[in-house]
Amino acid sequence: MTFHSTRSLGQEVSFKEAIFQGLAPDGGLYQPTQELNLRGGLSAFGPQTSFVEVAQFLARAIVGDDFGQEQLRSMVEKAFPFSPKLIQLDDEEFILELFHGPSCAFKDYGASFLATIMEAYLDKERERAIILTATSGDTGSAVAQAFFGKENIDVVILYPSGRVSPSQEKQLTTLGGNIHALEVEGSFDDCQRMVKEAFLDGELKKRFSLTSANSINLGRLLPQSFYYAYGFAQLQAYNPDEYYYVVPSGNFGNLTAGIFAWRWGMPVSGFVAATNANDVVPEYLMRGSYSPRSSVHTLANAMDVGNPSNFERLLHMFNNEWRSMRGLIHGEVALDEEIARHMQHLDRKFDYEACPHTAAGLFGAKNFREQELDKGTATVTLATAHPGKFTEVFEEAVGRQPHVPERLAQFMKREKVATLVEPKLEALSAFLNQQFS
Ligand SMILES: *Cc1c(COP(=O)(O)O)cnc(C)c1O
Repeated sequence: MTFHSTRSLGQEVSFKEAIFQGLAPDGGLYQPTQELNLRGGLSAFGPQTSFVEVAQFLARAIVGDDFGQEQLRSMVEKAFPFSPKLIQLDDEEFILELFHGPSCAFKDYGASFLATIMEAYLDKERERAIILTATSGDTGSAVAQAFFGKENIDVVILYPSGRVSPSQEKQLTTLGGNIHALEVEGSFDDCQRMVKEAFLDGELKKRFSLTSANSINLGRLLPQSFYYAYGFAQLQAYNPDEYYYVVPSGNFGNLTAGIFAWRWGMPVSGFVAATNANDVVPEYLMRGSYSPRSSVHTLANAMDVGNPSNFERLLHMFNNEWRSMRGLIHGEVALDEEIARHMQHLDRKFDYEACPHTAAGLFGAKNFREQELDKGTATVTLATAHPGKFTEVFEEAVGRQPHVPERLAQFMKREKVATLVEPKLEALSAFLNQQFS
């Protein structure tokens, strides 16, 4: 496959170039140039198919012949010692749990694949790189764990001070080694802007071999399509007439990955973009006008994005046609009070512990089913993080502590190391100079 920017159709790059560039030189985002038709292969998958098999099949289609069949298989096995789990909540309500990886969030899938494949490319060329990444919480912890200990890569993580949960912060700031945390006195949008500006500064970018691991990076985005295809295969055990994927969304990388899977031939009736109060995309789907704005702080903080980067990709995939996007994607919004109440409802009625993001998704799924769907049509909501990552929010909503996985509990005991910086490009470049010159 080759790739091109959303802003200039001419220049094609390889998968390797696309992942190390992150953002295209013209400021656009890379997109696949060719249409893949994988319907035959995807439709043949069923409940017996393992996640590694699905991942290997799609990875082969994406990276082509850069690695041999054997090497790709072992890379996929190395990247994914964990896999998604499909849970049935009710007759037509399903959850695809994506939090069984090291940082207990879906971002482990993209981060782990990206780390494995970057390491392999750098190894081949005997090169080094620095990953620059902005996080609203879960990206950073997934990236930190995925890249921790990789010999040829350093990672610099920018996160908004006071706006990530204590557990997220511990995961970002306690690994040490090749993982460096910058605590930014600003919002997630500030962090994201600083990273964007650093990449647009050609000199800085070249001097430090900067590359990104944000959800703008195709190397993270494309592997997220693997679990959509796997969820489809697992769902075959229940034989629903039709089904929709419901995606708790912030920066819209996750949803974009689902749309890729659909374009390549994965059978699905449509998608629901479920947001918190930061509802610019549901508003666009409803009215046809897009008005990005500053993010507002909510209980589902990993979705607090007011100007989602991947919206540019979505527009590109639908040729800027509001009607065709609306034909496939439906928007739902959950306000804080609805998120909290739904967390409590899920716990009482189904004995199911959901994180606030997953609860926003399940709330959207319920509204969507009630208002739009016939009996026999299922929804599969992506559970984007483990509730144990959000103990404060969970306790406040449900009235007791959630179960906390051992791998998260371990982090809480470690000591935070982070550098406090102003929300300015100069602060970031000063840090890079001091640390890596
Ligand atoms: C990042 C994140 C989201 C939002 O995903 P996007 O790809 O940015 O839309 C939702 N839930 C959780 C738990 C997350 O970490």
